[in-house]
This record gives sequence, structure tokens and C-alpha cells, in this order.
Amino acid sequence: MSSKDETLGLVKDALDQISSIHTARALLLRLCYNSEFALDFLAEELLTTESEVYSSNSESEDEAAYRPNKRKRKTYAHVRYRKCTQCLETFDITDNTTGCCTWHEGELEFDDEADTWIDWDEDTHGPMDTTEHREEYPDGFRWTCCDDPGDYEGCESGRHSTVRGEPPQKRKRYEYQELREHAHLE
Ligand SMILES: [Zn+2]
Ligand SMILES: [Zn+2]
Repeated sequence: MSSKDETLGLVKDALDQISSIHTARALLLRLCYNSEFALDFLAEELLTTESEVYSSNSESEDEAAYRPNKRKRKTYAHVRYRKCTQCLETFDITDNTTGCCTWHEGELEFDDEADTWIDWDEDTHGPMDTTEHREEYPDGFRWTCCDDPGDYEGCESGRHSTVRGEPPQKRKRYEYQELREHAHLE
């Protein structure tokens, strides 16, 4: 029979072999179904309470009441880490201050005058204006909102947002501003 350390070492090796995020998710979920400790641990890491989102300063009531050993569970209300629909980064909703997100409202358009394409021969190298190239050679494209090259920092700045729906540039300006102000409350 293996010792705890040996088993831990083998499990670590096995975890290193997992290449699919789906497998890892399924394992964590099974762990939560089977262990209160695992459930509390992951809830504490990944979720947040209403008061933690609204008052980032003083210790909240929920915080004070949290006693993992007594199985007093906080009243979790939100998934803490989310993907921002503006900058596409993952952010912490308890730490979402003005100016921490920058993004472009426009579209990335092919720039046939960019230096990137000077020696590019489409017959030899294939088409220039592709989805992959927007990621691979962003400097060969320009943002329609500010005309900056594709690899330049966002021309808009504010809070991270999780609001989905129609692209922001289609909304009226004041609506978008309002929406952005409230984005962190979602
Ligand atoms: Zn821009
Ligand atoms: Zn963002």
C-alpha cells in the first residue's frame, strides 16, 4: 500500500497528464459532490458575497461570520472571476475599479499599408486578411474606432464588464456610458 506522500506524488503526476480542461472540471465537480470540505474550499476561492462586491473596504458581516470548521457557509451570490466582454481578460469582480480595463469599441480592419505586409506575396504566403492574422500580426490591422494599429492599447478605459448583447458601438453614447457605470453591479 502506498504512503500518503507516494500517492500524492502519483496523483500530481497524473494531474500533469490531464490536458483537457473538461476532464479537470468534471473531476473538481465530483470532488465537490463528495466532500463538504472541497465544496467550501472551492466556493471560497471562486465565489464572492454580495457585500464583498459592494464594499471592498471594511470587513463585512459575512466575512466575520465565516467559520470553515463550523460549516457556517457564507451567502455566496456571485461567481468571482469572470471574463470581461471588453478586453476579454479574466477579472476579479471584487476588484474592478475605474481604469482597470482598456479596450477598443471598433472593429479590427485590414491595413494594406502596414509595414507588416511589405514583403508579403499572397501567391506564396497565402491571404493576408484572415482571422488568424488578426491575432498573429495585429500590427497589420487597424482599429476602426481610433485608427490605431491592432496591437495598441485600448482607446476606451473604464471598468471590466460582463454585459453581453449588441456590440457597444451600436448603442447610443449615453446609454453605453450608463451601462458601463453599472456593469460592475451585474
Ligand atoms: Zn480604438
Ligand atoms: Zn476588461
